[in-house]
Amino acid sequence: MLEIKNLHARIAEDGTEILRGVNLTVKPGEVVAIMGPNGSGKSTLSYVLAGRDDYEITEGDILFKGQSILEMDPAERASAGIFLAFQYPMEIPGVATMEFLKVAMNAQRKARGEEELKIPEFMKRVRQAAEELHMDMNMLKRPLNVGFSGGEKKRAEILQMKLLEPSLCVLDETDSGLDIDALRIVAEGVNALRSPDRAIVVITHYQRLLDYIVPDTVHVLYKGRVVKSGGKELAQELEKSGYADIVGEAA
Ligand code: ADP
Ligand code: MG
Ligand code: MG
Repeated sequence: MLEIKNLHARIAEDGTEILRGVNLTVKPGEVVAIMGPNGSGKSTLSYVLAGRDDYEITEGDILFKGQSILEMDPAERASAGIFLAFQYPMEIPGVATMEFLKVAMNAQRKARGEEELKIPEFMKRVRQAAEELHMDMNMLKRPLNVGFSGGEKKRAEILQMKLLEPSLCVLDETDSGLDIDALRIVAEGVNALRSPDRAIVVITHYQRLLDYIVPDTVHVLYKGRVVKSGGKELAQELEKSGYADIVGEAA
């Protein structure tokens, strides 16, 4: 599904290298956790996957379903089936959430050669997904993310993910700012998306989320490289010992 090979990326503006040779493979059906101390490059990795242009790739490659995506812009990557739920979801004033969903879903369908959804079918899908996430339909009449609480923004991200049915889901710190009930609801939403032909990458600083979304594989990113990989028990070890040991070994 995803193959990141010796990926080096720097900040376009000042040339600072953030990713310094990331290697990572994600198979279809797999749930992968990427952990690591603050500042290790986790969010940068998600931005680079999304194709944000404030970063430059200087070496390496990103393959999605066997093909390099480096030359694709963010919209093309989304159409191809890559979805990123951001750590800080952007507010879009003037665009009702519902309208945003309709445009996004129809763009996705067009890219797959499918017809536009009829309004009743669209409404039915949105209502069902919102219900599963315990979201009030009235909220969806408001501009996307504007005035939403932290937890509401995260739910809105998962709502989009459910409706767009991507092949690769990347969630950056979806747990940050969520209380335990919201965390459970969001995790259930993500777990419902598990499927043999979809892969999910969960980026998190804390182990807590991984009690609810149990990963198959855990990778630790530190100073722009994957320094340790293991099964779900690695997250539990980190919970006990913190990142100090891994940071020491890496040094
Ligand atoms: P993490 O998500 O693991 O906490 P980030 O990817 O957010 O790490 O950041 C990695 C490092 O890169 C940090 O030191 C951060 O300050 C720096 N960084 C990332 N993007 C930028 C940017 N656009 N401008 C300046 N510094 C950046
Ligand atoms: Mg951070
Ligand atoms: Mg981050």
